[in-house]
Amino acid sequence: MSDSKIALVTGASRGIGFVVASKLAANGYNLAICGTRQETIDKAAAQIRAEHGVEVVAKAVDVSDRAQIQSFVQESAKQFGRLDVLVNNAGITRDNLAMRMKLEDWQAVIDTNLSSVFHAMQAALKPMMRARGGRIINISSVVAEAGNPGQLNYCASKGGVEAMTRSLAREVGSRGITVNAVAPGFIATDMTAELGDDAHAKLTAQIPLGRLGQPADIAEAVCFLASDGAAYITGQVLHVNGGMHM
Ligand code: NAP
Repeated sequence: MSDSKIALVTGASRGIGFVVASKLAANGYNLAICGTRQETIDKAAAQIRAEHGVEVVAKAVDVSDRAQIQSFVQESAKQFGRLDVLVNNAGITRDNLAMRMKLEDWQAVIDTNLSSVFHAMQAALKPMMRARGGRIINISSVVAEAGNPGQLNYCASKGGVEAMTRSLAREVGSRGITVNAVAPGFIATDMTAELGDDAHAKLTAQIPLGRLGQPADIAEAVCFLASDGAAYITGQVLHVNGGMHM
């Protein structure tokens, strides 16, 4: 069994997930990370190892596939002999107005953003219950609460993530496991780069702190919820959005 704590982060090849994984590594965690492509997740792992000197297991996993994500969680816990933190971060958008939304775009977002979180949490519970402790941190979104035209599927998936977070927090609190969510506002990653400069300017105008968030803003919140100082926090959604939604 490893002496260092282990964190598993999904969707860590780039964007928020990569910075969350790097920050956890800077705090001494060994890592299991996944993305959809072996080449890009290997590159992310090599960078984290070089910068922080921690052990990193990296695998191409489609989180929407129950068998793939569950075996990744189980194998990672077995390989390190423990699983301290699970960060469900992988996510996609397939935006369209409700009247035009294709069933496949509804289903892809629900499978990738919502069902995957259930599959991963379920697999993580066994090693966490055995250890009588663990931290589960799910990445939601400000739009779960605020709603967003053109994102009915995405909002439903993130609303579901927040509801599952509260339910599981009630189920496993007595085992020393906390379950929380972080709800980012608009963060500068590939996901928001698609929106273009005009949309960015309009969005920034709605943010009291006057800027889009950075992945590091989210990583700080995740690391706090993983830390000893957050031991008495469970079933909560921590909003990190520059004040755009209050
Ligand atoms: P991003 O830059 O698009 O990165 C998405 C990550 O998820 C990538 O590592 C991607 O892997 C991975 N991924 C996607 N589908 C996957 C699948 N089926 N299986 C495994 N990995 C998969 O996104 P981001 O902006 O960092 O967003 C990260 C999380 O924050 C998401 O849950 C998103 O909904 C949430 N969020 C983001 C914002 C924002 O403004 N950016 C706001 C609120 C919430 P590949 O590199 O292999 O594609």
